Formats: sequence, structure tokens, C-alpha cells
Amino acid sequence: MSASVTVAIVGRPNVGKSTLFNRLVGRKIAIVDDTPGVTRDRREGLGRIGDLTFTLVDTAGYEDANDDSLEARMRRQTEMAIAEADVILFMIDARAGLTPTDEHFARLLRKADKEIHVIGNKAEGRAAEAGLVEAYALGFDEAIPLSAEHGLGLADLYSIISQAVDRADEAKAAAAEAEFDYDMVQKPAVDVDVNEDEGEDQAGDTAPLRWNPNRYLNVAIVGRPNAGKSTLINRMVGEERLLTGPEAGITRDSIMVPWEWEGRVINLVDTAGIRRKSRVQQKLEKLSVSDSLRSIQYAEIVVLLLDATIPFEKQDLALADLVEREGRAMVIAVNKWDLIEDKNAKILELRAECERLLPQLRGIPLVTMSGLQGRNIDKLMKAIFEIERTWNVKIRTAKLNRWLASMTEHHPPPAVSGRRLKLRYMTQAKTRPPSFIIFASRPDALPKAYQRYIVNGLREDFNLPGTPIRLWVRGGK
Ligand code: GDP
Ligand code: GDP
Repeated sequence: MSASVTVAIVGRPNVGKSTLFNRLVGRKIAIVDDTPGVTRDRREGLGRIGDLTFTLVDTAGYEDANDDSLEARMRRQTEMAIAEADVILFMIDARAGLTPTDEHFARLLRKADKEIHVIGNKAEGRAAEAGLVEAYALGFDEAIPLSAEHGLGLADLYSIISQAVDRADEAKAAAAEAEFDYDMVQKPAVDVDVNEDEGEDQAGDTAPLRWNPNRYLNVAIVGRPNAGKSTLINRMVGEERLLTGPEAGITRDSIMVPWEWEGRVINLVDTAGIRRKSRVQQKLEKLSVSDSLRSIQYAEIVVLLLDATIPFEKQDLALADLVEREGRAMVIAVNKWDLIEDKNAKILELRAECERLLPQLRGIPLVTMSGLQGRNIDKLMKAIFEIERTWNVKIRTAKLNRWLASMTEHHPPPAVSGRRLKLRYMTQAKTRPPSFIIFASRPDALPKAYQRYIVNGLREDFNLPGTPIRLWVRGGK
């Protein structure tokens, strides 16, 4: 089956385009095309992330001697890529920050009537944060952080490309339908009078998948060995599905088990640990951090599954910390709730423990459940959708600045060497997780405690429990 969508990677030399190309297409193919001495202004291959396949075009190769000016070649390359691609990944080096060449590309791309996503590559570690923030000055949507070299941030690429594939498939289906000259059946309007009970029944396995709202949600379930991950996933997707194996593609890195809940397609990101165990019927002795890390990186939402009889062990906290650092949204599911006798006392105790041990994720939802009995899976799903909303929240700049004014009035920033620090302006640079920039007169001098005051205030006043929140302080404006 040929790919229905063409994705082009565009950007100045050395930002990491080939590295991403090699990662998505597979090194072997790339090397074959990489003949020295041959002008290779672009390479094409079949890219793959999870179950998605697409045509990938890499526009690397300016280093070849040529009479043309660099600029002329870049223009030609970019125009060609624009013409051919359905989706354009405009890559910058988040470590190096913006350069005039990046801006040059941005000008070319802005004229194009194509779907363009800015990719901030080399985003592993803290060195990239400033570059990611700067990128938003290019005039596109927020930059998507990626590390082509380390394979981080692929979930976001997956989500972008899968939307494009869906749209292409829908267009193709519509074209085919038109060709067959069917009587077009009008879809019912939104307000259909459906009997409640019937509605429930229709959500059963015979109901067709509704690709709503146009995107998948990748959910990883992580936890210590024996927390009940396999039992829960089995319960969610049904025994049969797991026995016959996932229908979606299997990559080196991860397995997506597609599943539907109330009309949304959920990809359960399966850790290698679960697979391995179920295959060879052997318990893993220790948590494989790299397996969990991989799942977390593929996921948008992470469910941290605790065993209610031994909650908040060291490994659980390490996982929670990992999720926070990766900037994913998290729900804590307290599993094996059926084994707890004094449930009221236990939930109070757990809430208190959670506030104490995970202060960076204040207000994170705790869902008590039993995977074994299939109890409260609906509550878990509700919490997942709710945290997804929080993670994607976008707060308007005007509103933020009114809020900032009241925060600084209520509690002014300290004076440093006799001069009062001024917080001039605030804006939300990106979502997923919500990330904010404050422009200040002396950015380095703003104490961490004051930054925490701002972050905690954002959490409370804008109702953002349980998601990581990023805050950058910069000079200027
Ligand atoms: P291209 O010219 O845009 O195709 O860039 P390359 O793919 O050749 O990469 C340029 C350099 O950046 C190489 O040395 C890569 O190893 C390095 N690089 C690529 N991706 C990453 C990344 O995610 N992180 C870091 N730190 N370096 C990267
Ligand atoms: P994993 O290692 O995290 O995948 O954990 P498993 O799914 O293999 O579960 C470990 C053990 O806990 C098994 O014996 C399960 O039957 C049991 N278990 C899982 N979920 C529950 C639950 O909700 N209640 C109880 N009582 N036992 C459970």
C-alpha cells in the first residue's frame, strides 16, 4: 500500500534534517541514497512512526559545490518541497536559537498555502528551552520540541501526521463515494433525539469508528511491575484483541494498541516490558526505566498506575518525576482498590501523600479503580480527557496580563540592589504543556520563590491541576 501523505523536512543546513529522515525511514535506505559526489538536493523514502506510513522528503545537501548561491538553491529546494508536500516540517536548531537563515526560510514558507509545523530539534535537555521560546517569533504555531538524535518527541509528529493521513483518507473515500454515484446520505444534525439507553448500546463493538475530534490520543500506562498494567490493558481492549496481537504497526520503539472510547481513538502505548512478560510468561524483576521512558515519550497522557496496597513507592515517584520532566499530562490511577477495606481513610491518606510527594503536580487527579473487576475505568477515561484539556489550554494574552498585574499588585516582586524588579509582559508561548514567558527588567534576578508564586497562581486561577507548567523569564519587551 502506498503512502497517501507526503511530508517534507525543510530548514537550513545542520539543524538535523537528515538525522530525522534516517530515524523515520531507516538508516539502510538513507545510506544507499547517500552516494558521495552526487548532487543530492533531496531524498525520498517511506517514513514510519508506529502504524503510520508516509512519503518523507528530506531537502538536505547544500554542501555540494554549485554555481548557484546558497540562497537561490534554498529557495528552489523549499519551493519544490512546498509544491510536493502535504505537511511541511520546518526544522530549526533549538540549541542554536534563530538565525537569519531560519528567518529567510520562514518568509518563504509563510507565503505557502500548506500545513507547516515548526520543529525545534536538538531539544533534549535544558539548553533548548530558550530556542523553543524564540521560535514562536517566526510567526507560525508554537515550535514542537524534538530530538531527532535521541528519538524524543515522536508522539507529537505522530499526531500531526496521523491527522494529515486521516484527512487524505477521508478525501479519498469521499472521492470514491462520489464516483460510485451513491445517493448521498445526509448525516444527522447534531441534535439527534437518541434514547439514552439505546445510545449506550450503540457504543458497543459494532459501532463504526468515528474519528473524532480528528485526532488520536496516545495514552501510556506505566507503573511498577505487578501494579496491574497488563490486567488493565486487557480489560480495556478486551482479551481477544491482545491475544491476537495489536492490529497497528509494531516499531522498534513501541507498540500502539488502538482502542476506541466514546468515539475517540485511543492508542494505548504498550511498553516493551508488558509484551516481553506476556510472551515469555516471566515477571520482570525490576522496572526498566528505558521502557517506561519510551512509552512516556510516545504518549500525550500518562496514567501512573499505583498498587493501592503499596502506593507511592520509590519507583512510582521516579516515574512521576519522569513524566513531569517530559512535560506530559498525568493521571494517577490507584489500582486494586477492591483490596482496600477502609476506603474513606485510605483516599484521604493518599491525597495527603500526593500533595507532599508530588508538589510539582499539585491537584493531580487520583482515580481509584480495579482493573481486575473492571471498576471505574469510565472514571479513569473521564480524568484522562479532562487532563488532556488542561494540557492543551491556551490562555489569551490580554487575560494573562490583567492577571499578572493583579498578582504583582498583591505581592510585588522584590527589589534587587535598591531597584524594584519589573514584570512587564506575559504571554503563553506554547501548550502541551502550558508554557509561559514573562518579560522582566532583570530576568536573572527574579527569585525562584517568586516564580513558584506565579506558577501556583496560574494553576489555581486558571484551573490547571495536574499538568506540568513551564515558566521562562526573559529580558526585553
Ligand atoms: P541537516 O544538515 O539538517 O541534515 O543536519 P544533520 O542531520 O546532518 O545533523 C547536523 C548535526 O546535528 C549532526 O552532527 C547531528 O548529529 C546533530 N543532531 C541532529 N539531531 C540532533 C539532536 O536531536 N540533538 C543533538 N544534540 N544533535 C543533533
Ligand atoms: P503488571 O506487572 O503491572 O502488568 O501487573 P499484572 O497485570 O500482571 O498484575 C499483577 C497481579 O495483580 C496479578 O496477579 C493480577 O491479577 C493482580 N491485579 C491486577 N489488577 C488488580 C486489581 O484491580 N485488583 C486485584 N485484587 N488484583 C489485581
